[in-house]
This record gives sequence, structure tokens and C-alpha cells, in this order.
Amino acid sequence: MNDNDVLRRFLFEAAPVRGVSVRLDATWRAVLMRHDYPPAIRQLLGELMAAVALLSATLKFEGRLVAQLQGHGPVTLLVVEATSQRTLRAIAHWNEEPKRYDLAAMLGDGRLVITVEPEGGGERYQGIVELAGDTVAETMSNYLMQSEQLGTHVWLAADDQQAAGLLIQKLPSDATAEDADLYNRVVHLAETITVPELLELPARDLLRRLFHEEDVRLFETEPVCFRCTCNRDRVASMLRALGSEEVHSILLEQDRVEVACEFCNQKYRFDAVDVEQLFATDMSPGTPGTFH
Ligand SMILES: [Zn+2]
Repeated sequence: MNDNDVLRRFLFEAAPVRGVSVRLDATWRAVLMRHDYPPAIRQLLGELMAAVALLSATLKFEGRLVAQLQGHGPVTLLVVEATSQRTLRAIAHWNEEPKRYDLAAMLGDGRLVITVEPEGGGERYQGIVELAGDTVAETMSNYLMQSEQLGTHVWLAADDQQAAGLLIQKLPSDATAEDADLYNRVVHLAETITVPELLELPARDLLRRLFHEEDVRLFETEPVCFRCTCNRDRVASMLRALGSEEVHSILLEQDRVEVACEFCNQKYRFDAVDVEQLFATDMSPGTPGTFH
């Protein structure tokens, strides 16, 4: 069994407290293979990727879950996208290489934006929080506490090989819970985790190490992988949105229109014939530049 690219959910039997553990190995390296990130940005992006994997396991959704860390510092944007098929992709933009991992210094006046885009065009959900604390883990814990009104703690780690995370969440319950102190106790135990343990231990060993005196029900392993959701149709829609005039002017300058997906580096090329086809059915009145 591959324990390297997996999500595992678990429940504490004594009180309504749940958890998720994630380890990303090939999934994370697929991101690092495509772009060369400075160490501090690499850590930030790996932590955000693990955090989004955890978040995707706690939410019920069909479609895409997108997390953006937006800022005005040396780092301007991080995007991690998860799908309900348990695929992930990620990208970071920066103007200057940050000196070290410091969330506030890297992103300046930043915020975390979470968007859920249901498949087939249902209603989008969007939640926004200001950056809290010094780490992605604190910001994500804060987001979950605000958006779900549930006590939540998140631990994250990333290096140049792996990204990993652990989430503990207190579920709603009536006051008659038999072990009311369980949540505080397991959070306290989880605080003792070290970065190497988080990165290296499979879920079962990690939970045994942290909670060996607690009764934990561990669910089936759920595989996670890197996959880009770009395709030619989506690029074609983007070019149509750009407008015929703009696209034709690129064609005139460069003899063809080439668009590269920044998540996976896949190149999409449109020659003169392709461009004519793109706009052939575009008869909508008032579209600028349609008839020249
Ligand atoms: Zn792509």
C-alpha cells in the first residue's frame, strides 16, 4: 500500500472530535518539478497544498476547491486547487525572493480566499479571512474556526520532498458528551508533534505516537495525486473572452497564438485556422472587433 500520497480521516470514539492526516510525496514533487521556487516560497506553497488537501477532506463538495493566498509583499499570489476526485495542483507568483519564511513579511497586507466551485455551474461559495499569525497553519485554523464555527487546529510541514498536515476538529455535540475534555487533550498531545514526524510518519504511526492512550477509529486510506485540470476547451474559452481583436493582433505579431498553462506547463497552440474557428460562431451583437 502506498502511504505516501494519501489522506486519512479518523474519529475519536470518546467524544465528537475528528481528524484528518495528509501526506503528499509525488503529488508535491510534481509541483516542484515544474517550477523552481525559492526555499521560503516552497515551504509556503507546500504547507498551503497540505492545508487544502485537509480542507477538501472536511468539506462536502463536488467540483473544485480553490485556496488563494493573496498579498502585496514580495510574494503576491499562491493558488492551490483541489478537486472532489482528490487531485491537486498549485502555483506561486512572486516579485522578489523572500529572505525567510514569515507569512506577514512575505505577503504584506494579505488574505486567504477560499472558493468552492460546484461542478456543472451551481452556486459558488467564497470565504475570506485576513492573515492570522505567522504561519499558513494558523491562518487555516482561523479560517476554519470562523467559517464553520468549529474549534479546529491545523499543523503543517513541507520541504523539498514532502508536504504533510494534520487537522483536529471538534464537532458539534450536545453538552452531555461523555468526555468533554477530549478535544483540548488531543490538541495538547498533537502540539508535541515535530516537523520530521509529520513529514515522515504514515498516519497510523503518527496517530499511535500522538494518541496511543486514546481510542481512535482510523478510516480507509484515500489516494491523492497531482493532476492539472487545464484543457484546450478551457483555453479556447479564455481566448474568446479576450476578444477577437486582441487574439487576431497576437496572431498577426506572432503568426500563432500560444498559451502555456502555468500549473503544468502544457502548451496550447492556435494557428490562423484555429483562431478563425474560435470566433466563427461568435455572432453576438456588439462584440467588439468581431467584424473587421
Ligand atoms: Zn495545466
